[in-house]
Amino acid sequence: MENNNFDKIISFTKRRGFVFQSSDIYGGIGGFYDFGPLGVELRNNIKNSWWNYMVQKRENIFGLDSSIIMNPNVWRASGHIETFSDPLSECKKCHKRFRTDHLKENKCPECNGDLMEPRNFNLMFKTFIGPVEDDTSIAYLRPETAQGIFVNYKNILNTQRTKIPFGIAQIGKAFRNEITPGNFIFRMREFEQMEMEYFVKPGKEDEAFKYWIEQRVNWYTNVLGIKKENLRVREQEKDELAHYAKGCVDIEYNFPVGWLEIEGIASRGDFDLSQHQKFSGEDLNYFDIETKEKYLPSVIEPSCGLDRIFLAVLCDAFNEIEGGRTQESEEKEFLLKLKSNIAPVKVAVLPLVKNKEEITTKAKEVYNMLKDNFSCQYDETGAIGRRYRRQDEIGTPWAVTIDFESIVNNDVTLRNRDTMEQQRVKISDLISIINEN
Ligand code: ATP
Repeated sequence: MENNNFDKIISFTKRRGFVFQSSDIYGGIGGFYDFGPLGVELRNNIKNSWWNYMVQKRENIFGLDSSIIMNPNVWRASGHIETFSDPLSECKKCHKRFRTDHLKENKCPECNGDLMEPRNFNLMFKTFIGPVEDDTSIAYLRPETAQGIFVNYKNILNTQRTKIPFGIAQIGKAFRNEITPGNFIFRMREFEQMEMEYFVKPGKEDEAFKYWIEQRVNWYTNVLGIKKENLRVREQEKDELAHYAKGCVDIEYNFPVGWLEIEGIASRGDFDLSQHQKFSGEDLNYFDIETKEKYLPSVIEPSCGLDRIFLAVLCDAFNEIEGGRTQESEEKEFLLKLKSNIAPVKVAVLPLVKNKEEITTKAKEVYNMLKDNFSCQYDETGAIGRRYRRQDEIGTPWAVTIDFESIVNNDVTLRNRDTMEQQRVKISDLISIINEN
């Protein structure tokens, strides 16, 4: 029997070193998390996959890595200083604070006390630049990576000799002082975004909007391997749309706690560029050499959060099997059916026994050969069945076992995680067989 459950997934990610609470030995800090050895590998694989799909495979999308702290005028122009806020309610009795739009009733969920009138709470983290802390030195940690792209639009256009339509993509940390972080790493105060701004001629935005929705769904299902039935595209209601937006859809994943947003795709018109043009005084118009037209391009923005995708991928791949998959094991087993392109470890190298030097020497030879090509783990402790299960649990697609025959015949057993099928293959063929599959 297979079942999924959020708490089990959370404890699994902690137990196997994917995710740790930040500053754990000091009791943690709300809304911040650290990623352990397996977590880093999985995140890097998801980032590389996004970068490859969005930037490297396309001639007209350019990469960027802009700074986290920018001139505060960026946030005046974008509207974040004035309007990037959530409604906050404070309890008159216990003084705990909550996001008003997340409350079910007009009473404090902690102590049932009366709530004060809601007020707007700006989500940007403030800091100071230089040695003097006053109003003139205030700066903000970016609450999104997108504005770094808009303020570099002209730099990219001028240095890359590109034409419209083109896009600029960036991956990086963003910071929001969320009133109520929660659902594990779903809503954090420090998180990572992967965003792309696609600039088109006004009038072409609807076509581009449709195109990018299809492309993004394709990435989730065909590249990351997320099950189609666990993903949906939800059109935002009119009252959810930003005032300048022409359309916006959310890509949602069916988490064990319900359908929640992992990506937003917005048709933003020329709002951002026209605001930056106004506040900076720079001419940000695009000049079309062929038609001699001058205009501010319209923008389509696919914007997703790495941490939410990381969580969705884990939930999607997580299987708990009561009684185990093999007859000899009666224990509960965990199987992480990650697609091999994002699995943190690709190959486990396992000497059948650890007290025969010829076998461990051969196993280390195989490990040294494979580790230049794949991320590998060498494991010699415990019974072989137990070692297979440890690898199944973290989603390792292949296990290579070295036994007595391997020394004579130069071959090994190659085991597939999902089918548990074992085949005998020559050591010299290992790399090409794993690559082909
Ligand atoms: P929500 O409505 O859940 O607060 P949002 O609509 O404000 O999200 P966007 O501003 O559209 O989110 O940001 C784009 C993406 O960044 C989101 O789809 C999400 O994946 C990610 N993201 C936003 N806020 C957070 C957060 N606090 N923690 C983790 N990821 C986040």
